[in-house]
Amino acid sequence: MTTETAGLLVDTHAHLDAGEFDADRDEVITRARDASVSTIITVGTGVESGHRSTELAEQYQGILAVIGIHPHAASTATEADITAIARLAKHPKVVAIGEIGLDFYRNYSPRDSQFRTLKWQLDLAARLGLPVVIHCRQAHEEMLNVLRDWTARHKERQSPGVIHCFQGDTRTTRQYLEMGFYLSLGGYITYPANSNAHDVIRSIPADRLIVETDCPYLAPQHYRGRRNEPAYVRYTAEELARIRGVPFETIAQETTENARRLFGW
Ligand SMILES: [Zn+2]
Repeated sequence: MTTETAGLLVDTHAHLDAGEFDADRDEVITRARDASVSTIITVGTGVESGHRSTELAEQYQGILAVIGIHPHAASTATEADITAIARLAKHPKVVAIGEIGLDFYRNYSPRDSQFRTLKWQLDLAARLGLPVVIHCRQAHEEMLNVLRDWTARHKERQSPGVIHCFQGDTRTTRQYLEMGFYLSLGGYITYPANSNAHDVIRSIPADRLIVETDCPYLAPQHYRGRRNEPAYVRYTAEELARIRGVPFETIAQETTENARRLFGW
């Protein structure tokens, strides 16, 4: 570890284009830098949001973009949208396709459209050689089946991607890891009710863990119920250090290296 990178963090999943940041986006980004968050990966949820995300990545240093169509929007997604995402993916600051996935908790889109939109975008990511950022709620069995098939067809891939906001059990954890996925943890690990997940969190290999905020959502315990922002990724890293019984510096270094390896910058 060099002294310039000591203690730096990466927020691997933020929605900086969200309207919640319209009034003070500059200050939010400055606060993140002041909190040693060296890189923020801002994640689009559709074509318009993807455009806004790449614009933010152009505008600010240390911001990278992920673009894709969220499962909530799957019912209205067309092949033309996938073509638009494919075009936008050529942008030099786009590092992954996401967030894409299955959400059988909210079920804002019918399941068949969620599967279709997910598979379109997995194929796109494979074609472009980009990792994927996966959103999965109450659909791990279905997701594991889809990803097993996809990774089997693309064995050449080194890191297929990341399961964001990961909250799976021991068995699910093992299966994603076996396929080569990284697991990303957010502010919810600081919630008292989450203490039953500590064994799972301890079981994740150090070279497969990354941290995120998913801001403006899911603020850590300290700010619970309020707007989340990239600077608060520190609370997650600190809690992770506590749960795993290692120094904060170690978590910062490992998660930053992992993010860099996964997203390739
Ligand atoms: Zn998200």
